[in-house]
Amino acid sequence: MADVALQHSELALLGGNKAIDIDDREIFRWPVVTKAHEDAVLAVLRDGNMSGTDVTVKFQKKYAAEIGMKHGWACNNGTASIHCGFYGIGIRTGDEVICPSLTYWASVVPLFSLGATPVFADVDPETLCIDPASIEAMITPRTKAIVIVHYCGIPADMDAIMALSKKYNLKVFEDCSHAHGALYKGRQVGTFGDASGFSLMSHKSIGVGEGGIMFTNSDEVLKLAMWFGNYDCHEQILKNTDLEKYIGPPAGGYKYRMHQLSSAFGLVQLDLYKEQFKEIDAAMKYFCKGVDSIDGIKSIQPNWSENTTKGGWFVPLVHYAPEKFGGLSVTCFVEALHAEGCTVCGAGCNIPLHNHPLFIEADVYGQGRPTRIANLPASAKIEDYVRELPVTSKVNQRTIAIPRFTRYYPDVIDKHIEAFHKVAKNYRSLLNRDKKTENKGGFAVSKRKSCA
Ligand SMILES: *Cc1c(COP(=O)(O)O)cnc(C)c1O
Repeated sequence: MADVALQHSELALLGGNKAIDIDDREIFRWPVVTKAHEDAVLAVLRDGNMSGTDVTVKFQKKYAAEIGMKHGWACNNGTASIHCGFYGIGIRTGDEVICPSLTYWASVVPLFSLGATPVFADVDPETLCIDPASIEAMITPRTKAIVIVHYCGIPADMDAIMALSKKYNLKVFEDCSHAHGALYKGRQVGTFGDASGFSLMSHKSIGVGEGGIMFTNSDEVLKLAMWFGNYDCHEQILKNTDLEKYIGPPAGGYKYRMHQLSSAFGLVQLDLYKEQFKEIDAAMKYFCKGVDSIDGIKSIQPNWSENTTKGGWFVPLVHYAPEKFGGLSVTCFVEALHAEGCTVCGAGCNIPLHNHPLFIEADVYGQGRPTRIANLPASAKIEDYVRELPVTSKVNQRTIAIPRFTRYYPDVIDKHIEAFHKVAKNYRSLLNRDKKTENKGGFAVSKRKSCA
């Protein structure tokens, strides 16, 4: 009997049996494609209407109404919705814009082509969303706007952020690409700032293929965003305004219209997401409860109030405390999980941007200076903009991207919980094999071998 027990506890990485010995792919499938999606997409194909705008206009109106915003403008991807949104809220050459370093590049890099300078702020160690105190420390007379990312579906501290925006007269742009359906104190994220952008890429919580959508309550912001990147819908928006004489080509030179197969898919998705999110929420809370009993693992969940939620739980994370596991690196812990059959988790989250050479030395537009500061006065030095961000810099050693279960199948989820417990219980057997590879992040399911 003792031998059997021993064998059972032996980690799969060391030759033992896997904790997850079933085909679990169904529980991760996303988006869930129904007959209604197929019919909607086929109707557009059969109409030969892929490049039209009528379905897209329906989609953007429906989504705007859904979250109570005056204007929605659907784009061909989330990056485009952010780019136009930045222009729309008035970001221009020489402006400084405070943003998180811990995010996907698309929240920040579009600033370059607008001639603006990203200034990176640190994140809150619990929520991993931009820290209002760090934002305040970065404000200068040149600061024009703050970019918020509701990171991994956790709403940022919007009360504090909107108070800063008022105090210093700063615009706020919310990148909600992780946070469809997430509520901050009962209110949908993406409705607080001057404008917001949502990626609608397939694996996001509302995924349509490729797509994005910008929202604003301001006619002026919409007008500028449309002028910048939309050349066939902007006529009605620009008519009888100061920009009427410019009707015609998009001012930014970008064509950002959404593909109608995506809009058709999105219209169906808007009917389904609330029900689907209920199931995801149940599945994820079940999983988090199961792993939160491990000393050293703590799920990241909103803690602002009862009415603050994660919506579709895009890229859920747990905090990982290596000191509770004899210093075992997160990479090695995750590798052991993979061996147990828990293959959809990864070590860490996004690669921080503040140390990336693109923001330190790259001269993208041939201006003879790093693009990051190219439009600031000649006296500005890049060194003044390259700062350490202590929380952000450690995040990839201290987080695990956990599986996102889109179906509530407790028996399958139990096996994943068991995999976490098994690795946690047997961490000592990994210590002498741990190469302590520094995890640089990137969300990828880690293929790097840190254990011999
Ligand atoms: C996915 C993502 C984007 C960009 O969206 P695309 O649709 O891929 O262009 C922007 N910001 C964040 C935080 C994202 O995760």
